[in-house]
Amino acid sequence: MNMPELDGEVLDGVQHKYRETVLFFPAQGQTCHSYCTFCFRWAQFVGDKDLKMASTEAEKLHGYLQEHTEVTDLLVTGGDPMVMKTKHLVQYLEPLLEPEFDHIQTIRIGTKALTFWPYRFVTDKDAEELIDLFAKLVDGGKHVAIMAHYNHWQEITTDIAEEAIRRIRATGAEIRAQGPLIKHVNDDADAWAKLWKKEVQLGIIPYYMFVERDTGAKNYFEVPLVEAFHIYREAMKKVSGLARTARGPSMSAGPGKVEIQGIAEIKGEKVFVLRFLQGRNPDWVQRPFFAKYSETATWLHELEPAFGEEKFFFEDEFEQMKKGKS
Ligand SMILES: *Cc1c(COP(=O)(O)O)cnc(C)c1O
Repeated sequence: MNMPELDGEVLDGVQHKYRETVLFFPAQGQTCHSYCTFCFRWAQFVGDKDLKMASTEAEKLHGYLQEHTEVTDLLVTGGDPMVMKTKHLVQYLEPLLEPEFDHIQTIRIGTKALTFWPYRFVTDKDAEELIDLFAKLVDGGKHVAIMAHYNHWQEITTDIAEEAIRRIRATGAEIRAQGPLIKHVNDDADAWAKLWKKEVQLGIIPYYMFVERDTGAKNYFEVPLVEAFHIYREAMKKVSGLARTARGPSMSAGPGKVEIQGIAEIKGEKVFVLRFLQGRNPDWVQRPFFAKYSETATWLHELEPAFGEEKFFFEDEFEQMKKGKS
């Protein structure tokens, strides 16, 4: 559903689900430093051709972005784009400084390198060029955001990890942090509070707490939504306002990113209060809606509308969208 076209041709390696944000999967970045069994991106680097989304051509990406002036954000992702040589990143990103890409205000790079291979930003052969690239993009007027994936505060306790963070921030790039809530790893409010505090201390902005996706080897790692919300709330209670920028628990589902805002009792019915943080239709965003309370649900599709409604407000429109595309 998210596959965009250029001149009538489907663009591999590019996804355009939300109006203002385009995802780019550069071919050279479709592997990762590690194989996390809880990762939903595994399909991209285990050789399943149908699922593998990869682009070889910078030209196509640039052509698409040039035509789509509604796009403000380019999100480079993978795999892990930080496994790429700097020279490839330069080829993709430097042209965005040209005036025809003025609408691209933000360049985000999703990565786990700050924890798995912080040397990427410090001692690798082309680390210096990478840091120079970030600085050049920032100086050229772009907001550069490194979307760092952290699951646990222990990932930011080494000197090299801190040095990598310092070097990136010295370029004027921001680091925002996101990660999934995973059972046996970080299903604990203290661990999240400590992670968010540590991030703020190091100048990182907490961005998202994700609910483990409904793909792959989810069973072992899943946490019921009710527990996820409890952990989120208890962690929030322990930190100052600067660390309360993490939104969540958020489910990146078909219709959009849905956040559990709370559990409430309305006219005698216990419900989840939900909202779209991001929607396939931008008009869905920030509209509160309600699902029947459940102790066991772990994902959006297991939730039922509250108050005897048959469907959630977005369902018909979403069905139409699915039909339209396939
Ligand atoms: C999260 C996500 C984005 C980025 O959304 P923002 O709300 O702009 O951070 C873009 N595309 C997809 C498919 C996503 O899941």
